[in-house]
Amino acid sequence: MGIRFERGFEMKAAIYQGPKQMTIEEIKRPSIGPDQILVQVKASGVCGTDVKTYIRGHRFFEPPCILGHEFAGVVAEVGSEVTDYSPGDRVAVAPYVPCGFCHMCQAGHFELCYDKSGVESGAFTEYIAIPKEVIERGTVRLPTGMSFSAGAMAEPLACVLNGIEDCRLELGDTLLIMGAGPMGLLSAQAALAQGAGKVIISEFNQERLAKAAEIGAIAVDPRKEDLKEVLKRETGGKLAQAVMVCVGFAEAVEEAQQYVAPGGVINMFGGLPKDSKVTIDPGLIHYQQVSLVGSFGFTHIQYRRAVELMANKRIDAERIITHTLPLEEAEKGINLSVEQKALKVMLVNEG
Ligand SMILES: [Zn+2]
Ligand SMILES: [Zn+2]
Repeated sequence: MGIRFERGFEMKAAIYQGPKQMTIEEIKRPSIGPDQILVQVKASGVCGTDVKTYIRGHRFFEPPCILGHEFAGVVAEVGSEVTDYSPGDRVAVAPYVPCGFCHMCQAGHFELCYDKSGVESGAFTEYIAIPKEVIERGTVRLPTGMSFSAGAMAEPLACVLNGIEDCRLELGDTLLIMGAGPMGLLSAQAALAQGAGKVIISEFNQERLAKAAEIGAIAVDPRKEDLKEVLKRETGGKLAQAVMVCVGFAEAVEEAQQYVAPGGVINMFGGLPKDSKVTIDPGLIHYQQVSLVGSFGFTHIQYRRAVELMANKRIDAERIITHTLPLEEAEKGINLSVEQKALKVMLVNEG
């Protein structure tokens, strides 16, 4: 994903200048080609990736650049060849889409596409040019009544739908989620919406535990209760059919092995720091036929489905937004996330 920008005095952007440095600057508004549209960003979510990049840098995001990839807004301009959209249309836009032709796409693994196309800028700004491929496969009209903030939640929710699919849950199954951050809480909502019997969430942060309980999960602080005992009690001794690890620690993946039922799935949904090592019990994989899987990203199909699930009120992704701040306060929003004082932070552009 490119993240170019040019200096100028046409719009504001939060520029990532390197670890723990962000400035608000005036830059040039992107110009669009005949097959592109220009979207005025109305809401953009602060994601774990933005937070990690801000803290320690990221090989995909060379400073100076604009972060942010979860966004929704209004079509401001359309190129002369564009017929599907008009100025004023409210849209959610996926930051990247698959090519549809490579080996991975042919095999249906769109999220692993070798040749993705994406938007050229991050979303912590006012206007973004949307290329043809993303207009065709990654742009969704916001249904009437859906807010821009909800639209911006389509991307993280799509990632969660990808992760939940990989958990291979059947109706009535129990899912254990380790970590009640934004992705853990969205995963809980998605699993309940698709008919999980019980969703149990383990978490230390009390506010996050309260939120987990509020959305219908069984919230457990493992310092106060023995998580394995809770699982046994809640499942009649069967343990969890799937464990979704929504934190970025190798220890959590190791711990997950004692909570998964035979034939179940451990999903490494949270990325681990580079060079992490995880110790796996081979007996669990062989004799108990437990699958260790990972999930990353989303497909354009899951993105569309995420918007529909919110439109149909099966998932209320907005309830995990705890802070809505103007774009100018992007750095503050990121720091609130770093300190775990916020769940989801939404940056908005008024006017
Ligand atoms: Zn994201
Ligand atoms: Zn492809």
